[in-house]
Amino acid sequence: MGLASVVSTWAASSAATRSSAPVPVYAAPVQDLIDELGRLPGVGPKSAQRIAFHLLKLPTEDALRLARSIESAKARVSFCSRCFNVAEGPSGGHAVECEICLDSRRDPTIVCVVEEPRDVVAVEKTGEYRGRYHVLQGAINPLEGVGPEQLRVRELLARLSDEGITEVILCTNPNIEGDATAMYLAQLLKPLGRRVTRIASGLPVGGDLEYADELTLGRALEGRRDVDR
Ligand SMILES: [Zn+2]
Repeated sequence: MGLASVVSTWAASSAATRSSAPVPVYAAPVQDLIDELGRLPGVGPKSAQRIAFHLLKLPTEDALRLARSIESAKARVSFCSRCFNVAEGPSGGHAVECEICLDSRRDPTIVCVVEEPRDVVAVEKTGEYRGRYHVLQGAINPLEGVGPEQLRVRELLARLSDEGITEVILCTNPNIEGDATAMYLAQLLKPLGRRVTRIASGLPVGGDLEYADELTLGRALEGRRDVDR
């Protein structure tokens, strides 16, 4: 068979495939696994396939260890009822508080507002901060349909009056979403008569707090400035 006829045979068969209903590429359990992995943040279709086949290749015991760690984390970890950081305790049970909120040595009058629990870890690593936190669980992002209502903003406002908070440090990421969130919160909080500060620049612009080194983030916290508006 010459090249031309191979190409025309291939073209005909691929055209036939396109015109019929989509042919399932993988067995249903494999496709389910790929679909679930593809829902994880930052995992595109290609990565989802690669991870799925990696898991299938693993010895059963190794793959099940991952499944069990997910199960155990979901059963034993939930979110702090005060600050929405991760907290040990089953979800759906009675209200649990995180270690930081339970620590009486922390200054309850200062609250550092961050986007995610991983940012709490980043700020804690600096060793510069002795107040409490409030985790928004995201940042304002109109393109992804995330507005203030989807974040823990209402809970932050309730804490201001309930807990005698005098300073709010806006420690959202130095990128578009984080800055928009900080600006929104500053406008909301300033009229309430509390000191509102934003971490100083010097952090890599457009970056994530979690990737900033401890020294840089520590300095940014120390050099925080009052928000004028
Ligand atoms: Zn907490």
